[in-house]
Amino acid sequence: MLNRIKELGEQFHHDVVDLRRHFHAHPEVAWNEVETTKKVAEVLKGMGCENIRTGFGGTECGLTAEIKGSKPGPCVALRADMDALPIMEENDVPYKSVNDGAMHACGHDSHTAMLLGVAMVLNEIKDELPGKVRLIFQPAEEHGLNSGADNMTREGVLEGVDVICGLHVWSPLKSGTIAYRVGPMMASCDAWEAVIRGKGGHGSAPHMAVDPTIAAADIISSLQTVVGREVDPMEAAVISTGKMEAGSAFNIIPERVSLLGTTRSFVPEVQDMVENSIGRVIHGICQAFQCTAEYKYTRYVPSTINDREASLIVKELGEELFGPEKVEEAVLVMGAEDFSYFQRKIPGAFFFLGCGNPEKGTDKPHHSPTFNVDEDVLSTGVAMLAGFAWKYMTSKN
Ligand SMILES: [Zn+2]
Ligand SMILES: [Zn+2]
Repeated sequence: MLNRIKELGEQFHHDVVDLRRHFHAHPEVAWNEVETTKKVAEVLKGMGCENIRTGFGGTECGLTAEIKGSKPGPCVALRADMDALPIMEENDVPYKSVNDGAMHACGHDSHTAMLLGVAMVLNEIKDELPGKVRLIFQPAEEHGLNSGADNMTREGVLEGVDVICGLHVWSPLKSGTIAYRVGPMMASCDAWEAVIRGKGGHGSAPHMAVDPTIAAADIISSLQTVVGREVDPMEAAVISTGKMEAGSAFNIIPERVSLLGTTRSFVPEVQDMVENSIGRVIHGICQAFQCTAEYKYTRYVPSTINDREASLIVKELGEELFGPEKVEEAVLVMGAEDFSYFQRKIPGAFFFLGCGNPEKGTDKPHHSPTFNVDEDVLSTGVAMLAGFAWKYMTSKN
């Protein structure tokens, strides 16, 4: 059956490429994926797909649908994200973005098209499927705080689902490479904020004031000791200060300084420790410099932590379909991916599909105005996702 799935993936390749180009030309940013959702629904309805549900997070965006096998068995969810980014495209291609200021610069157009390809493949073999597949077309992966996956999970898309699988095309990896990983794979992304208050005064009379810029300067450098001295060197974390605001003129000691930054980590224990330590450093330094501080830490996206069994299915499947030379262990990535919200509820596997080919110019960084996907890998992604559903179902029956 796996070979048949692979052949079907190749058979639908041109349909998937056409769909990808359609989505690429008509990008919609987070929570605006109205036309994209309509197009996905249209393709699925044309196939006779069941139980189509649209509209999540109080919008018209997002869709789930089901393909039911003729035999009972587990429910496997497969996920694609659909949102574009607020970037002006610089690629000169026939399917260039027609929506000014929006671009599919992360490859989510290809994810959406591949999942539709998966629906086509599974539709052909549904009489033999021992279980059902729930297709999740998710809005707003790139949003951060108001994540599409978080909203969909809270609105029940995982009810009755046993396992979930998703992929990301990945330009740093050679085209066709499948990179799996057991355990943590992508980092959590959080934000921290501090408002440091002193006592404003004349720049010539520091003894009459309490200067919050001195405390802020000390905080910014001391925060790096949290990563350097408190986090286990075998673990990883990042603390960055992205924004600092203070003052109004050259001869005024300001009343307050505000700081804004981000943190990244892979395991929840490190994330908790970083959150607490940043607060301790801020309050401790402020006390030493006679300032006061307000500290706020906001968790944006949890880390992507892959289930062992599900990730090993990805590994074995990749080896069976495309040969062991095409499969490797993924390196840890400090970027975040909101697929993690699904994984907090049920076991899941997220993997990278290499789409980097320097000869085709598809090795540009994600989120850059010249990002593009090597379309030859789309049938690989289709076979991997459809194959995952098949392999998981048959392993449980
Ligand atoms: Zn992205
Ligand atoms: Zn992405």
